[in-house]
Amino acid sequence: MIDISDIAPHNNTVHKSIAAACVPPSACIPLSAANGDACSCVSPLVSVGERVSEGQQIASAGSAAVPVFSSIPGVVRDIRPALAPDGVFRLSAVIELSGAFSYLGKKKSPVDWRRLSQEQLCASLEKHGAVNTFDHAELLASQIKQLPPGSVHILCVRLFDRDPSVALDAFLSQTCAAHVLEGAAVIAAAAGITRILFVFASEKQRSAMQASIAEQCAGMDTYSLSAPKHRYPQGGRQEIQRLVKKQNAVSFCSELSAADLFIDSFTAYAAYTAVVSDMPCIDSIVHVSGDAVRSSGVFRVKTGTPIYNLIEECGGFSKNPAQIVVNGRILGTAVSDLSVPVTNTVKSIQCVSKKERPMHIQECIRCGSCRRACPQSLAPDVLYEHAYRAAPCDSVYLKTVVLCTSCMLCNASCPVRLPLYQAICCLKEQVHEK
Ligand code: SF4
Ligand code: SF4
Repeated sequence: MIDISDIAPHNNTVHKSIAAACVPPSACIPLSAANGDACSCVSPLVSVGERVSEGQQIASAGSAAVPVFSSIPGVVRDIRPALAPDGVFRLSAVIELSGAFSYLGKKKSPVDWRRLSQEQLCASLEKHGAVNTFDHAELLASQIKQLPPGSVHILCVRLFDRDPSVALDAFLSQTCAAHVLEGAAVIAAAAGITRILFVFASEKQRSAMQASIAEQCAGMDTYSLSAPKHRYPQGGRQEIQRLVKKQNAVSFCSELSAADLFIDSFTAYAAYTAVVSDMPCIDSIVHVSGDAVRSSGVFRVKTGTPIYNLIEECGGFSKNPAQIVVNGRILGTAVSDLSVPVTNTVKSIQCVSKKERPMHIQECIRCGSCRRACPQSLAPDVLYEHAYRAAPCDSVYLKTVVLCTSCMLCNASCPVRLPLYQAICCLKEQVHEK
């Protein structure tokens, strides 16, 4: 572990509420989620010229895929490949706003989910497309169904952001604590789990939320831990398991394994929206920040809204951005086009100037930062040179690729921004193919 503050400055701006972003006149909605097929296996359920309602399902791509809904009422004007926030061209529906909203501005009483059976809760999560963003975006209901039967599981809830340059999960845990905790209780009930482990960013956060946990998770066995401050990587499955061991937690959580269910605050909030508010996932909560925008803010955004609309909401650019980064400077992706839409797995958009993100050069300068940063003691520079430049590489180095935990710290620490982690992924695939 290293102190991350040089690589990804902590975002210290405090926001107290979620602002509703303007409804876009036209939404471009990718028909497959980040983990789904880009184009081939997606089946649009609507055609060009067809009228759609807000919340209507517009695509399906198999049983484990995330259902996609129209975030606005209107008419489908086009179905074409368009750049998505993960940098992939995905088949997308362009919907022009018209007609009445089914959800926006309508008050509904909350669903009394405690009266629902485990199957009904799981069906509600599935029907509304609640996604687990703990690591890679996956349909929550599918993960619940895949839990090994017959074992007593633990639900592990991370209440802070894995990428320390992002502040959205921490914001939700603080500002919407009741909804996040109730959402976690919903997920536990849907999975038939009665033991919940909460992992906090700090002791301060932990003591502030203890009373709410007791209230929202009454009847469940709960335990909480605090992670060390300003350290990275932390918050991943392995790091949480290590934390449990290190803190000698004498409770059920000593049994925590990678096969248990891990979620973050964003996922718990999505589960609350899906089951308690009985709403499909047609909005995302997005934190817009960075030194190249005039102001920052947290917005409730209709999926399909172009990123430039949100930058306008923040008063536009204050200086030329060197990079627009989606979902964090360590774990996220840079987007080159401001018309890229927000999807329900976009948590943060950071507009950073040249000062914060110097221009790249393309050669390794042998500084050794990646080796010092790697928590697994790999040599990312050697592996990169071998994967992308065919440099000879000792088999001792090659065998280490399986130890990579995908923390992307090597990428973040490299002063010339070489795609080290991506190179290691290529080598990992080759190892698995053999
Ligand atoms: S992504 Fe892999 S190689 Fe890079 S720092 Fe993390 S563990 Fe090391
Ligand atoms: S951090 Fe980047 S420049 Fe430095 S040794 Fe590693 S790959 Fe080379």
